[in-house]
Amino acid sequence: MEKKTKLLLGGHMSIAGGFYKAVQAGQSIGCTAIQIFTRSNRQWKAKPLEQDAVKKFKEVLKSSMIQKVIAHLPYLLNIGSPNLKTRHASLAILKQELKRCDTLEIPFLVLHPGSHLDGSQQDCLDRIVKGIDSVLKSVDSKTMILLENMAGQGTNVGYQLEQLGYILKNVKQKKRVGVCFDTCHAFAAGYDFCDKKSYEAFWKKFDRVIGLKKLKVLHLNDSKRERGSRVDRHEDIGKGKIGLEGFALLMNDKRFFSVPKILETPKATLQTYAKNMKVLKGLLSDRSKKLLHV
Ligand code: ZN
Ligand code: MN
Ligand code: MN
Repeated sequence: MEKKTKLLLGGHMSIAGGFYKAVQAGQSIGCTAIQIFTRSNRQWKAKPLEQDAVKKFKEVLKSSMIQKVIAHLPYLLNIGSPNLKTRHASLAILKQELKRCDTLEIPFLVLHPGSHLDGSQQDCLDRIVKGIDSVLKSVDSKTMILLENMAGQGTNVGYQLEQLGYILKNVKQKKRVGVCFDTCHAFAAGYDFCDKKSYEAFWKKFDRVIGLKKLKVLHLNDSKRERGSRVDRHEDIGKGKIGLEGFALLMNDKRFFSVPKILETPKATLQTYAKNMKVLKGLLSDRSKKLLHV
């Protein structure tokens, strides 16, 4: 199929029934990018990849409008845990998933940095750096690890840009690590980018602390809870506290035209994703539509 649009937009799709099912589901509502879990999100164990499943996935993907697939690691992982057993199990999965993504030719693997539990934030960040270094050293994969910014619930680290910046600056293989930016999480963590002025200031800071080039994926979610609440509750676009202006600024920002935009809105049905995509596309200016061939 001709992949004519340059707009990379879609949602997180289920892989129930096979990887290719996620592609078909995305295709059915006009996604040009999708995100998947490459294993069950709530289990440590995964069935090994079957050759037929990989082949089918690649075939269906090739004949679809979808131009980018992003993988997300299970939420159970904590590579920053002070508990050695948890940390090792988490690193083993990170390594496995990097290999699986490489086989599936998925370029990005999103990781929640970790939680310090009862330890210090700084020790946790250092464990994360060490863990990423050890995994990348031991596995050959074209897939990049993307650190996702967090809302700052519980003892999560990675809710401040400086924390992500610290990890990025201290890992050895810098080219293999990037960032996935979640709007709901950043807003809940206290960042403001909801009007023109705050938006410009925010991305200036992002560029200084992390670097715009590091931004590889955007998670577009509105926030049910107020700014600075540090509570991670996603909301449909325009129905939460971020508001449409913030999303309009992002959608029309030329710097991010080539960055895949993924919805993780509540319910996560095809119908609600389609609705949210329609809202986001409605925010595109005529000029953006022309440039993106929408
Ligand atoms: Zn995430
Ligand atoms: Mn997210
Ligand atoms: Mn979240």
